[in-house]
Amino acid sequence: MTQRPTIALAYDFDGTLSPGSMQEHSFIPEIGEDKAAFWRRVNGEAARLGADNILIYMHEMVKAAQREDKRFRREDIERHGQKISFFDGVADGWFERMRRFGASCGVEVQHFIISSGLKEMIKACAIGREFDAIFASEFKYNADDVPVWAASAVNYTNKTQFLFRINKGELDLSDHVGVNKYVAEDDRPVPFRNMIYIGDGDTDVPCMRTVKEQGGVSIAVHPAGDERGAAKTASLKADARVHFTADADYSDGSKLDEYVQAAITKMAAMEHLKKLERG
Ligand SMILES: [Mg+2]
Repeated sequence: MTQRPTIALAYDFDGTLSPGSMQEHSFIPEIGEDKAAFWRRVNGEAARLGADNILIYMHEMVKAAQREDKRFRREDIERHGQKISFFDGVADGWFERMRRFGASCGVEVQHFIISSGLKEMIKACAIGREFDAIFASEFKYNADDVPVWAASAVNYTNKTQFLFRINKGELDLSDHVGVNKYVAEDDRPVPFRNMIYIGDGDTDVPCMRTVKEQGGVSIAVHPAGDERGAAKTASLKADARVHFTADADYSDGSKLDEYVQAAITKMAAMEHLKKLERG
């Protein structure tokens, strides 16, 4: 029992760490389409077919690249990932600062992504190396690294399964045995009371609720100065979906920085109490 307790920070990606959707930073401009038109087509197709929006956007990316004669191999998806920009402080020390703060409280802070966006883009972006695991949508590639099928599609309802994988330390998606095995909450690698979920909106509600109801901390963020975004996060708080709302400002000394450190402090104190009680 010499191992330090783990605290997991789980993040949505689009609108939480990065403005807009990751497809809008360089992929949609490259195919020469207006971003609203792209998403209108995706949503229209999903509605017409009664299909999953995520599977449809993945297919529409493949089709649009073919139509416009643009390269769309694994390396191109990574290239688009490298163009992603971030909210203040995200790519400027946030992840390491939280790890160091956790260590000073006697706990290990780990970072996870749970996103409907593309895993290859997130892995290749400027903060891709900061995460202990990235759960996101993913293509199946052929031997030439060309996408031929969807390997994983993460939508808002199935986002919560990844919280349970973090909770149980079962990070391998192809393993259906371990994640369903009974383990008492206190014996799990990351009990829910040691989880902090940060998201920006509607598609995060199931995760926000799960973490909050199981004893963890849920946070909703909006871009600084965005009144509509602030109204949306305020209603999430009024509906008791989240504990706290803030500008998506991850810089040293921001409100979000202060709150997350306070949450880590509380979780570390709880771990200390539990350790003393175990004797
Ligand atoms: Mg989002």
